[in-house]
Amino acid sequence: MIFDTHSHLFSEEFDNDREECLQRCKELGMKLMLVGYSHSGNEKAYNMAQLSNNFYCSAGIHPDQARKNYLEDVLRLEEFLKTHKVEALGEIGLDYHYDDGPAKEYQIPLFKLQMDLALKYKLPVIIHTRDAWQDTLNVLSPYAGKVVCIMHCYSGSLEMAKEFIKMGFYIAIGGAVTFKNSKEIKRVCANIDLDRMLIETDCPYITPTPYRGKRNESSYIIYTIDEIAKIRGLSQLEIENITYNNACKAFNLTEE
Ligand SMILES: [Zn+2]
Repeated sequence: MIFDTHSHLFSEEFDNDREECLQRCKELGMKLMLVGYSHSGNEKAYNMAQLSNNFYCSAGIHPDQARKNYLEDVLRLEEFLKTHKVEALGEIGLDYHYDDGPAKEYQIPLFKLQMDLALKYKLPVIIHTRDAWQDTLNVLSPYAGKVVCIMHCYSGSLEMAKEFIKMGFYIAIGGAVTFKNSKEIKRVCANIDLDRMLIETDCPYITPTPYRGKRNESSYIIYTIDEIAKIRGLSQLEIENITYNNACKAFNLTEE
């Protein structure tokens, strides 16, 4: 079995051919974590997750949604969590990539308050972090050993990955590992503990080689698996099984 731990197949980029995309997932025997990022995205992810036992839902408010009224958004998210069964909280975190992005003074409390929700509702968390390593580490440190975090589309250093693993977290490897120039991600992939590794697509983004530049979809995860298998000197099936079992453990999917 293959577990794509980060898919946005519910989003509008797939409105014209979602059925075909899902058929390709089915043929591969895939499970999908459908990851929300906004109030409307959370609804869509949840509704799609109801369609199959192979789909799961994560709900959260992405840092690019951070605004002055972040408290209102957190309360609304908590209402959602009370009324909808989800397997994870996310994607949440910090994104300092864009100069005109939301202010840190909104992003940081929005992130912290959602971490508190994860603690309260005992949910694992899918973390988005971009150009914000130190602040991310500062926010997450107090939750080490209390909340399980998944470092989504990991793009940091090997040293940082080892820090996160020490905190009990998982490192999710995405399509960027297939890029020729992604030396550090390949190094992370080669050296982290296999029982802490997850795989994901983040589709429609971060499309692996040979489709780089086109829209990504969950079934393209096979190119990421192929690259990881080469790096680790294992078979594709071994990588699939290891990361599948890790995902079930990370998301507390006991029915498996
Ligand atoms: Zn995402």
